[in-house]
Amino acid sequence: MNLRIGVLALQGDFAEHIRAFAELDCQAVPVKRAAEVRECDALVIPGGESTTIGKLCQRFGLDETIVELSERGTPIWGTCAGMILLAKEIEGSDQWRLGLMDITVQRNAFGRQVDSFEADLTIEGVTGGPVRAVFIRAPFVTEVGSDAQVLARFEDKIVMVRQGNLLASAFHPELTDDIRVHEYFLNMFDSK
Ligand code: GLN
Repeated sequence: MNLRIGVLALQGDFAEHIRAFAELDCQAVPVKRAAEVRECDALVIPGGESTTIGKLCQRFGLDETIVELSERGTPIWGTCAGMILLAKEIEGSDQWRLGLMDITVQRNAFGRQVDSFEADLTIEGVTGGPVRAVFIRAPFVTEVGSDAQVLARFEDKIVMVRQGNLLASAFHPELTDDIRVHEYFLNMFDSK
């Protein structure tokens, strides 16, 4: 596929996303500057630390650029910290966010004792059995608006949501060898 997939490379695990797309024969590139982000056919906002990524987004003047991309219908996927940045509401926090998705998230929501864990998730639209999901100080979604569709839950917690061209996962598919969620994201082009 000849798409230009940008992975926001301000902070966090962008290199792992680039590797996963390479396995799907897609050229994913690290992007940082507004001009680079503007050229993307799809954008991934990786895991990391959401307040840091948010501050850097503002410093690099990416806030409006990413909002414009979304308005053009460009697929955008946020993993973990990326999910937090896509959310309209973050419980108990006024940190900067893009606010593109009609969801409320809670940061570090799984509690201290299970800061990091793995689980098998059944994801709507991903065939071939459950996906092994890695959660690292992950958020979960506490509320979804009527336009947002829940794709996966861990126990009763919402951990993956789609809203049109926007996708958010609380876990890190880029940290496993299973590339089916990356594939799902690429398939969002067909349903644009
Ligand atoms: N806990 C981080 C935050 O709130 C997210 C963790 C992650 O991206 N793995 O920003």
